[in-house]
Amino acid sequence: MKRILVAGGGGFIGGHLARKLTDMGHFVRVVDKKPITQWYQVHGDCENLVLDLNDKANCYTAANGFNEIFNLAADMGGMGFIENNKAECMLSVLINTHLLMAARDLGITRFFYASSACVYNGDKQTDTDNPGLKEEDAYPAMAEDGYGWEKLFSERMCRHFMEDFGLTCRVARFHNVYGPFGTYDGGREKAPAAMARKVIDGELFGKDEIVIWGDGEQTRSFMYISDCIEGILKIMYSDILEPINLGSDEMVSINQLVDIVEDIAGYKLSRTYDLDAPKGVRGRNSDNDLIKEYLNWAPAYPLADGMKKTYDWIKEQMIAKK
Ligand code: NAD
Repeated sequence: MKRILVAGGGGFIGGHLARKLTDMGHFVRVVDKKPITQWYQVHGDCENLVLDLNDKANCYTAANGFNEIFNLAADMGGMGFIENNKAECMLSVLINTHLLMAARDLGITRFFYASSACVYNGDKQTDTDNPGLKEEDAYPAMAEDGYGWEKLFSERMCRHFMEDFGLTCRVARFHNVYGPFGTYDGGREKAPAAMARKVIDGELFGKDEIVIWGDGEQTRSFMYISDCIEGILKIMYSDILEPINLGSDEMVSINQLVDIVEDIAGYKLSRTYDLDAPKGVRGRNSDNDLIKEYLNWAPAYPLADGMKKTYDWIKEQMIAKK
């Protein structure tokens, strides 16, 4: 049994990870800056602390007496959030920097950092038919402004803490993650949850129109949460020294994503396209050659299956609110 800190565990992925680690028999401390009433999951068998990890002293308090750290804390959201809050996204650099310093000084044996596909060079993502981003495509660097640059810089901080201070760091580049207990409204939600919410909104309130950002032909891949958690654990306990993709390679357009949700709902809406809304890159997909070769990991959930579970969960929440 290890003592493990999950930073950002009041959020979507951290909440699922804390559950998994606790079920594996570890003692887990969950830290997040949001009031506990706003955490997506609160596990009674974890130690739950509210601390702002931008603050260096709080990082030392959080990590003291622990063996390992998973850092999932960041100010983030979908395109609407990251395109309009670049400085706030970049300030998350303080969280990872201070947590790395605490890890170095307090004898932490392993450190996980959640990076993102937003580190990839924008020039490699101008076509909807993206062949899959390979890990080397992050350089020469031209990351997503704000959020992506923070992730790229923090990846390098992990690398240099490993080289200079001997801290064992592992870095995964997540491609869009979705599933139950995620953000589905409020402005930080990502495409799968947003599309599910809009279709359910139609079903429950008799609306017949759905607004799609851009022309809907932009492409992405989406990874179901349980695949993500399994991948995080494989990467954390591997000997992979470089950042590695953790994502699905089932690429779809946003229009195809809406088709999937409408099929699940058995409800069709007329589509209008907001061409001025934030759209992000034109095409993005994960190249999974490295993770298959090194860790024998591939996503188990096809998008339609994961979306069915996500849709059911969001519908339950919306009915409860209604
Ligand atoms: P999330 O927003 O649900 O969770 C992040 C949590 O970090 C939030 O609960 C937030 O309150 C907390 N946080 C932010 N600033 C903090 C601070 N100063 N101190 C303490 N807590 C703080 O996001 P998520 O989807 O669970 O993402 C987890 C990690 O994975 C993030 O680093 C994110 O950038 C990365 N990531 C996620 C995705 C995705 O599709 N969800 C894709 C790429 C990368």
